[in-house]
Amino acid sequence: MSPAQGLRAANDVTNPNDLDSWWLPFTANRSFKARPRIVARAKDMYYYTADGRQVMDGSAGLWCVNAGHNRDPIVSAIQAQAAELDFAPAFQFAHPKGFTVASRLAELAPGDLDQVFFCNSGSEAGDTALKIAIAYWHTQGQGQRSRLIGRERGYHGVGFGGISVGGIVANRKLFGSLLAGVDHLPHTYNRAEQAFSRGEPEWGAHLADDLERIVALHDASTIAAVIVEPMAGSTGVLPPPKGYLKRLRQICDKFGILLIFDEVITGFGRTGFAFAAERYGVVPDMITFAKGVTSGTVPMAGVIVRRGIYDAFMKGPEHVIELFHGYTYSGHPLACAAALATLDVYRDEKLFERARSLEDKWADAIFSLKGLPNVLDIRTIGLVGAVDLASRPDAVGQRGYEAMDRAFQEYGLMFRVTGDTIALSPPLIVTEDQIGEIADKVGKVIRAVA
Ligand code: PMP
Repeated sequence: MSPAQGLRAANDVTNPNDLDSWWLPFTANRSFKARPRIVARAKDMYYYTADGRQVMDGSAGLWCVNAGHNRDPIVSAIQAQAAELDFAPAFQFAHPKGFTVASRLAELAPGDLDQVFFCNSGSEAGDTALKIAIAYWHTQGQGQRSRLIGRERGYHGVGFGGISVGGIVANRKLFGSLLAGVDHLPHTYNRAEQAFSRGEPEWGAHLADDLERIVALHDASTIAAVIVEPMAGSTGVLPPPKGYLKRLRQICDKFGILLIFDEVITGFGRTGFAFAAERYGVVPDMITFAKGVTSGTVPMAGVIVRRGIYDAFMKGPEHVIELFHGYTYSGHPLACAAALATLDVYRDEKLFERARSLEDKWADAIFSLKGLPNVLDIRTIGLVGAVDLASRPDAVGQRGYEAMDRAFQEYGLMFRVTGDTIALSPPLIVTEDQIGEIADKVGKVIRAVA
């Protein structure tokens, strides 16, 4: 077989031009098309290429397949739903499963967060939460409260709201002036103070106090909301410093500022709890979720909102639309069926508790990579881990890219990289043996790219 034929066989691409037309998101398209990484099937902890090669899923797809791949109850629920009710509008109409999913999510959410607004992606959920915050202040006669505060290195999706409050420079710099009236808290990572700290670092709670500086600059009466990821994921896994989120909550309370947790990654067991808010004992005013709600099977996302915020929108004349916002596919029946089946799997298999009980084994395994060539730092929390590799001189991101590619092509492991940081987040069904296998493969890859 020629190399080109081999490639086509491995990837099940019959026409060589088939690789041409899909412009892949957040992808080095030219490198990818020269050496594609294509999966054709999946089951439980594994992906398979078209020619049958097994690839361990070390990233739960894209932080979303928390229940494992192609789980029978979820597959059946989606199939049955497609046959029963394909679509129902959620503007002035509804369908039963949407209400059931919303109340199941309300049960999982902390405090009095019990109203769910459905979207289809984490990006939509982020923008929706920001819009609800600003609109809420209008209902309070405080329309001037429209400033938004995000955080450096934060990721809240790719809508204009999300990239404006987000703090990943590459995601912002090509897109013009973005939203006005946005400030950023400092990120919470400091290698000198925090390197190789398991779980939440001891150093850094004081960084939340920077919110006081922003308030002093603009006055609290102009600030609608603060949005943060409880654990910053896409920027390279930064667990919050001990006490940081509590301090942020206290300062928001002091000035009446709404606090939004973006739990698109941290939701549904990733840190060992339904939401990281529970883990950290902090109740935000809104939580955005996506990914794990359907274990990645059908797109679904949303915002869980405090009862009081919802109530504020219910005060006008009865028949008038209360919030001029929503999506054609908000609460899509297939997504709702997938979510219900997924939430059942989480509950019946106690997967959130499982993540918690495996946390120490996971951390031990990932920390065993300390001392390998180029390893500058390791961070873990729940079933998440990150390994920072030293960049090649003048080629930031190249070692990381090579690690990801070789892991997939040669070692049968999928993970994500941001720059030269390897990010790991296996499905929550991972076994102790598989944890060992993941760490072993990562170790081999790190040596291979040294
Ligand atoms: N928020 C966070 C914290 C995320 O990690 C992501 C995606 N990785 C998003 C929002 C955006 O989600 P989506 O890609 O579904 O728009």
